[in-house]
Parts: sequence; structure tokens; C-alpha cells
Amino acid sequence: MAQQIADRRDVDFVLYEQLGADELKDTERYKGQNKKMFDMVITEARNFAIKEILPVNEEGDRVGLVFENNQVKVPECFHRPYELLKEGEWIAMTEDPEIGGQGLPYLIANAALEYIIGADFSFGAFGFATHGAAKMIEIFGTEKQKELYLGKMYSGEWSGTMVLTEPDAGSDVGALTTTAVPNDDGTYSISGNKIFITAAEQDLTENIVHPVLARIEGAPKGSKGITLFIVPKIWVNEDGSLGEPNDVVCTGIEEKLGLHASPTCQMTFGGKGQCRGVLLGEENKGMRVMFHMMNEARLGVGALGLFNASCAYLYAVNYAKERVQGRDLGDMFNKDAPSVTIIRHPDVRRMLLWMKSHVEGMRSFVYYVASLFDKEVCAAEEEKAYYTDLIELLTPIIKSYCTDRGFEATVQAIQVYGGYGYIRDYPVERLMRDSKINSIYEGTNGIQAMDLLGRKMGMKKGAVFMTFIGEVQKTIAKAKEVGLDALAEPLEGALNRLGEIAMHMGKIAMSPDFKVAFSFASPLLEAMGDVIMAWMLLWRAAVAKPALEKIVGDAEGDARSEKIQKNKNAAFYEGQLKSAEYFIQSILPVTLGRMNAIQAGNNAIVEIPEVSFGG
Ligand SMILES: Cc1cc2nc3c(=O)[nH]c(=O)nc-3n(C[C@H](O)[C@H](O)[C@H](O)COP(=O)(O)OP(=O)(O)OC[C@H]3O[C@@H](n4cnc5c(N)ncnc54)[C@H](O)[C@@H]3O)c2cc1C
Repeated sequence: MAQQIADRRDVDFVLYEQLGADELKDTERYKGQNKKMFDMVITEARNFAIKEILPVNEEGDRVGLVFENNQVKVPECFHRPYELLKEGEWIAMTEDPEIGGQGLPYLIANAALEYIIGADFSFGAFGFATHGAAKMIEIFGTEKQKELYLGKMYSGEWSGTMVLTEPDAGSDVGALTTTAVPNDDGTYSISGNKIFITAAEQDLTENIVHPVLARIEGAPKGSKGITLFIVPKIWVNEDGSLGEPNDVVCTGIEEKLGLHASPTCQMTFGGKGQCRGVLLGEENKGMRVMFHMMNEARLGVGALGLFNASCAYLYAVNYAKERVQGRDLGDMFNKDAPSVTIIRHPDVRRMLLWMKSHVEGMRSFVYYVASLFDKEVCAAEEEKAYYTDLIELLTPIIKSYCTDRGFEATVQAIQVYGGYGYIRDYPVERLMRDSKINSIYEGTNGIQAMDLLGRKMGMKKGAVFMTFIGEVQKTIAKAKEVGLDALAEPLEGALNRLGEIAMHMGKIAMSPDFKVAFSFASPLLEAMGDVIMAWMLLWRAAVAKPALEKIVGDAEGDARSEKIQKNKNAAFYEGQLKSAEYFIQSILPVTLGRMNAIQAGNNAIVEIPEVSFGG
């Protein structure tokens, strides 16, 4: 049967052949776990996603949400999969079993999530937001708060949200006006209006826990005066039982481009003056706590870019193998030639290979960063910073690059389908609508690019960036060892160029021309993303080449082709070599052109007078 959501062969390749996931069993933290168990978890997740979530995504999109009397009803078809999500304990895969988790490695959880979240993010968002909110309580909450909330949230009995945005406080969270006034009993009275809050009202759970950013009266202006509060929809008594409704009201939901079954809520806290919250972390340190959650969310949304692209690619490639249209280009002038499937047309193959190489590169990138989390938690104290720093450097790139390329992949999928792609009877237009938001929330991609240039590239005086360069160089050396010089050398050239550009941009960013530097922050992020794709694909090719040679031996020409046709593994490994070849030979040269433009630093963007934009 054709692969859906994510190609299992490719997932296994990344886990075991590229990243060595089975070695996790040798670590103290994951001892007792092994490949058999990992495979079982991923198979379970895949079955759950394909049998229970995938079949409801179309209905969820079509039926949408009902908003009545300040309450939101999710599509009826979501209730069963949500019960199964809870039963399967999918929300807290990586957390310790003592607090309701499964204690799995991040890498394995990531693969399971690729299926569960990839099947439908309108559905997956309920668990995704809950995990992020619970994690903040786990890290920053008091013992009592953990006791009251963690079990209920990690099990999915209660859900969670992330409440930052206000009409005049979007990217600039520090501009928020929601207030908190201390009460005698240690709680705070919260009042304010928030907008665009995902899953802030729904009928899947009996309670919803809102981490709300607010300003305590008299606190400093801007992000330094922001505090985080736990504000439950229904008050939670000291013994854990549910009390009175907490004056948290959903006043409306947005009509939007995609994610039709995921409520995007307008919320009023304390409209009747009766909303209470408790401090999470310290006063005026809310951004620090929230950043923890936002970093997790940024990586998660970046991964979502991959998941959307992977789904779109599989739909497109399977369609292209079936849709018959036109004659083979070689038979152009032969009127009697049979029509062929569209996968035979060079332009369709171009789109498919663009998608395939990006999906594979992004999968390796996203899983690689998940594996850094495992390395970080398993490392000796003095080695942890190496991994933490790399994760920090790569976070804005995962978030931006994967969400932009993920969206583009869904657009390409529509193009492969032709007119059928544009109509609702086929799934790719929904994927495109659903995936556009990824470049906007959790910090727009423009803000991510500024973070990369302004903060991340210069971390520890550029030492972290040099660590990254060193990691890529390891792969280049490995590729040369297996005879892939023709691919390794162009990447080496692009990596060196990236190093030069990074130094150059770092200097300009600190000069009077700093605005010019920031006007090129997004192209810089894209260039680094492309280099990372080439790195990941070369790494894959360096694993695939010897494996392929083992199967085909020294066969050449037709004999080699025949072996590749007949052996699934050989076909897969050959596909790895072709993805790397395509990306490095056809896309990386364009990246070099982009880097030239960055270095040239034309200042038209900064200098064009506002009036000259027209409008
Ligand atoms: C479907 C959906 C779900 C959401 N879920 C949540 C949620 O659960 N919780 C929550 O709190 N929020 C949520 N949001 C809000 C989301 O995070 C914000 O929309 C986002 O942060 C951008 O803010 P904004 O819409 O006000 O855009 P603005 O901040 O007005 O940005 C507009 C444009 O200006 C650019 N820009 C703004 N400031 C700068 C700057 N300083 N430098 C350079 N460029 C800049 C941006 O990159 C963007 O291109 C959601 C939004 C949507 C649409």
C-alpha cells in the first residue's frame, strides 16, 4: 500500500542508519529501552494516525467549529480520536513516568509525532498546546502546582493554551495591557482581552488551563514588566477538585484560511472582575518562562512545516504515478504513442524531486535537532552546553526555513495535481491552507531571521556558529571517505562562503548600516537553511552509497538498473544519492548567488522613501 503522512522507510533510515537511534539503549537515561520498543511505539503512532486521525481531517475541515453562547463545539468526529490520544498517553511521551510520561527519547517521540500531528494539525493542536503549557508548570511551577495540574494535563484530561497576543501586542509582546492585581489570599485578579488564542475554548476537556501573560500594576513597561499566571477556566481547589467558573470567557472565534477545526479564540479574562490567577515563576520574569515554551513551540512548528511537506509530497507522488495525461516527451511526434502517467514528464519530475529532497533534508534536520535534545539530557554536566547552544542556534532556522519550505511544498503538490489540486475533493489544497499559518505564529519568520542575525550568530563571540561549521565539516570528510567528492566539494565551498557572509553581516549589523544588514536577515537565514539541507542530504548520501554498493556490487549500466528496480532497499538508497545530487548541483548554486547578493548589500530596501512605495 502507498505510504501516507510520512514514508516509514525514510523515517527508519533517519533514525537508525543516519542518527544511530538504537545506541540510545546504551545511555543511563534510556537503558531498558531498545529498537524493538522504539519500532513498536512508532508503529502504534502510525496506526493511530492513519486509522483514526487521517480519516477525520477532511470532515473536520468541512464541518468546522460551532460557536454558541460563548462555547465552542469541535467537530463531533474529533471526540473519538481525542479519547484515543489520551488512552495512548501520546501527550507526554518524553516526560518522566513519575509525572505521567512515557520516558521516551526525544528522537523517538518526534517520529511518533510526525504521524500523529502530521495527520491533522487542527486535531493535533489540542495536545501540542497542552504539552507546552504543562511543561512550563513542570519546570517553573511550585510543588503544589505540579501536584494540581501536571497529571491532569499530561494525561489530556485537562488541556492547556498559550495566552500572549492582544490586538496591539502581536510580535511586540511587551506592549500587552492585561493587568494583574495582587489579592490578600496570594492570588491575582486578572483582567484583559486576548486574541488569536489556539484552543482556548473547546468541548473536549472538562477544564482548560491558560498560562496568561499580564502586567502587575506598577510593573516596568515593556517585556521586563511581564509576569506569567496560571489561569484555569474552572477554578482548581486546593484538594484538586473543580470549583467555580473563573470568569474566563470566549467572546468569539476567528473565521480563517485554514485549520478550520482548530478554534482561534478571542478571550476576555475578568470581564466581571472575578478572574483569578496564580503566579507561575517569579514576578516580572514571565518572558523567561514563556520563552521556554516558545522555544519548544518554535521547534514544534518548524517540525510541522516538515510534517505538512511530507504529507503533501506523498499525496503528489502517489497521484503522479496514477494520473495518465499526455505522451512521453520522447514520443512527441508519434500520434499512436500511448498516454503515460504524469510522473514520466520532466517538469513533473522536477517538482517531485524538489519536494522529495526538501522533505528528506528537513526530516533529517528536524530529527537531528531532536537527537541533540537526547544528547543534551544524557551528557555529563560540563558537556551539556555544547548541545544546548547548537539547539539555540538552529531554532530560528528550523522554525523559519521548514515552515517556508513546508508551505512551498504544499503549493508544489497542488501544481502536480493540476486543476484537481485546486478543488476540495482532493487533500492538497487543505494542506496548503493549513500550513500557511506556520510562518506567522510562534514569532513570525521575519522575527526569527532577526533573532538569527542579531543574537544567535554572535552567541559566545561566534563560537557556537563555529561549532556548527565544525559539525558540517565532519560530514564533508565522511562523504569524501566514501568517494562522494563531487558532492562534498560544492558543499564545502558553500559552507566557507556562508562563514564569510556571516562574518560580514555580523560587522554590518554593528555598524551605522545596521538596517541594511537586517534587511538581508531573511535571505541570510534562507542561505543557511539551504546549506543545512545540503549538509543533511550529503550525510544521507554518505550512508546510502556504501549500503547501495553492498547490494548492487560492481554491476553497471542495465545490470545495475535492473538490481535497483528489483530491490526496494537499493531503490531507496539510489533515491538518497539522487536527492543529494539534485539539491547540491541544482539548488546550491542558486544559494551562492543569494549569498553574493547579501554580501553586495544593496540598500534600496532601506533607502526607498515610504511615499515611493505607492499605495
Ligand atoms: C491561527 C492563529 C493561531 C494563533 N495562536 C496563538 C496562541 O495560541 N497564542 C497566542 O498568544 N497567539 C497566537 N496567535 C497570534 C500570533 O502569534 C501572532 O499573530 C503573531 O505573533 C504575529 O503578530 P501580529 O499578528 O500582531 O502581527 P504583527 O506583529 O503586526 O506583524 C505584522 C508584520 O510585521 C512584521 N513585524 C512586526 N514587528 C516587527 C519588527 N520589530 N521587526 C521586523 N518585522 C516586524 C512581522 O514579521 C509581520 O510580517 C495565533 C495567530 C493565528 C492567526
